[in-house]
Amino acid sequence: MNNRSSLLMIYTGGTIGMKQDATDQTLKPFDFGQILNEVPEIRKFAFKIDTYTFDPLIDSSDVEPGLWQELAELIRDKYEEYDGFIILHGTDTMAYSASALSFMMDGLTKPVIFTGSQLPIGVPRTDGKENLISAVEIASAKDSEGHALVPEVCIFFNSLLMRGNRCTKTDAEAFRAFRSPNCEPLAEAGISIRYNSNIIRKPLDWYQSLSISTKLDTRVSILKVHPGITPQLVRTVMCDPETRAVIMETYGSGNAPTKQWFLDIIRESCESGKAVVNVTQCQAGTVNMNLYATGKSLKNAGVLNGYDCTTESCLAKLFYLMGKSSDNEWVKGMMERNLKGEISR
Ligand code: ASP
Repeated sequence: MNNRSSLLMIYTGGTIGMKQDATDQTLKPFDFGQILNEVPEIRKFAFKIDTYTFDPLIDSSDVEPGLWQELAELIRDKYEEYDGFIILHGTDTMAYSASALSFMMDGLTKPVIFTGSQLPIGVPRTDGKENLISAVEIASAKDSEGHALVPEVCIFFNSLLMRGNRCTKTDAEAFRAFRSPNCEPLAEAGISIRYNSNIIRKPLDWYQSLSISTKLDTRVSILKVHPGITPQLVRTVMCDPETRAVIMETYGSGNAPTKQWFLDIIRESCESGKAVVNVTQCQAGTVNMNLYATGKSLKNAGVLNGYDCTTESCLAKLFYLMGKSSDNEWVKGMMERNLKGEISR
């Protein structure tokens, strides 16, 4: 058994890999092949760490599903060579990318850890070094049988390892940029790294091979309900003939206006065959459409329960399921199932 780890560090772009240019003071990406010079602490780990830099590097606000396909293919192609994968990614859309990869990869037995930072790695007070060093340690951690301690797609940020499809970026400034309100952290880095092994998902078969699904169907729209919402807006989003699914961001435990015109449009959208999924605007807690009359009317109209999933993960799950099948009835059935730990069911 070989307990010496080898990792692939993939840099897609974002603040972490930037340095202040000495001449014009702007932030520019540095040559990531030189990461060991920037973070010499990593040399103290006795593992092999290779780097792979995307070209072009992107601010994660420009992330498109094509990047997820490239990442999934890269990990599949390099899967046998490495024990773990670290993806350095901008924070703005990291929760979407981590959610997407969690669905697109089946049979994962190795860690895939996203991280990034709020301050560039070259800045003295950077949070990037701690994030990166701990992510390296976690991605290489194995049990006594040589199996990965965390064979999941995760986000490591500000001392917490969180399930990727449970995270949301909640702070644009603080080092604690991400939260996973409906799922306990998978690990916490203090003096030592404490793994929450009751929550970490383990494969049934450690020797299964990885398979990826890169076909994604992005015909999804999002309706955020709010006081004063108009019939025109609701109809435009809910009844767009180009979409196959709508995510409804509702109030509290899944409530929405009870006005007849509103319910009529929702019913029309469901009856046209669209997968309409109810997720809450609240950061924590779950949709329960049996609690109030308003939620019940949505359920009766045919709206699906998104339970406690984030909008990011609901979107990625729809892209993935709709890419797998053109049968919306199948997609609807799968939406209410827990596929990768994204809902508490
Ligand atoms: N706009 C940047 C990005 O998401 C912010 C960051 O890296 O944290 O790529």
